[in-house]
Amino acid sequence: MKLNIMISFLICVAAACCSQAHAADAKPLAKRVFIIGIDGLRGPAVNEVELPHIQAFMKNAAYSTEAQSTTPSSSGPAWGAIFHGVGPEIHKINKDNPAADGVAWPSFIKVINKHRPKMKVGVYSSWEPILTETLEKSCVYDKLCATDGEIAPAAVEYIRTEKPDVFFIHFSIVDNTGHAYGYRSLNYYAAIRWVDNHLGDLFAAINGLGEPDKTMIIIVSDHGGMEYPKADGGVRHSHGTDDPDCMNSFWAASGPGIVPGEMKAQFGIASTAPVVARSLGIKPPAGWKAKVPSGLFKE
Ligand SMILES: [Zn+2]
Repeated sequence: MKLNIMISFLICVAAACCSQAHAADAKPLAKRVFIIGIDGLRGPAVNEVELPHIQAFMKNAAYSTEAQSTTPSSSGPAWGAIFHGVGPEIHKINKDNPAADGVAWPSFIKVINKHRPKMKVGVYSSWEPILTETLEKSCVYDKLCATDGEIAPAAVEYIRTEKPDVFFIHFSIVDNTGHAYGYRSLNYYAAIRWVDNHLGDLFAAINGLGEPDKTMIIIVSDHGGMEYPKADGGVRHSHGTDDPDCMNSFWAASGPGIVPGEMKAQFGIASTAPVVARSLGIKPPAGWKAKVPSGLFKE
C-alpha cells in the first residue's frame, strides 16, 4: 500500500514537472529583436504620405493602422502599456509613481534581463521618462537620452559596434510636430518622413548584423492626435481622449514566424510586450494582460 502511495506520488510529481516544462519557455523564433517607437504617429498617416522605408517594411510585415492606444491616449500611460503588457489602469506609472520591482507586470526589458541575462540590451530614448519612469530602475541596459537628431546616428553606431540582442529606440519629433502644427499638417508629414529616412539607416545597420531570418523588427506608436477647439475660438493640437484619431496607432512586426499582411483583429499596443517575449521564446509573466494578437504568428 505504501509503495502504491509512493508510486502515485512520483507519478503526480512527474506529471507536474511535465506540465511545468510544457508551460515554460517556447522555442525562440528570433535571435535579435529591435523595437522602434514613433511617438504620436497616427496609424492611418503611414498611408497618407510617401514613406519609402516604412512602406517597404510593411510589405513584409504584419501591420495595423488601428492598434489601440490606452485610456488616456497619452505618452506615459501608453509607453507604460507597451513595455509592461498591461493598461495604465493596472500599471499606474507616472512621474510620482515610476515602475517598481515586485509587480506581476514587469517591463519586457526586465523580463529579458531575468530570462536571457546574457542578452545585450540597449534603450535609446528621446523622451527621458521612458528611462526614468517607464522602466524599472533595476533594469540592466545600455542607455542614451538625446534629441532625435542625435539619437538616430548614435543608434546606428551602437547597433554596428555593440551588436545588441534587443534594442529599443524612441523618436519624439512626430508628436512634437503634431502638437505644434497639427496631426494632419504638412509639417507633421515632413516629420514622419524625417523619421522614415533615419529608419533607412537603422534598417541598414540591423541588416549589417546578418541573419535577417532570425531578426524581429517591431514598429509601434503610442497614440495619434487631433484638433481640439479652444474657448477663444482657436484650436489646439493634442491627444488624450478616446477619439479614433488619438486611439489609432501604428503597429507593425516583421521577422521569423510572422504572417505578413494587414491585421484585421483589433488589439492594443500593450500586445508589444508579449510579442517581444514570444519572439525570444520567453514565457510571458502571468500578470501581463495583453496577448499576442491572433494570427500574428504562423503557429
Ligand atoms: Zn506620446
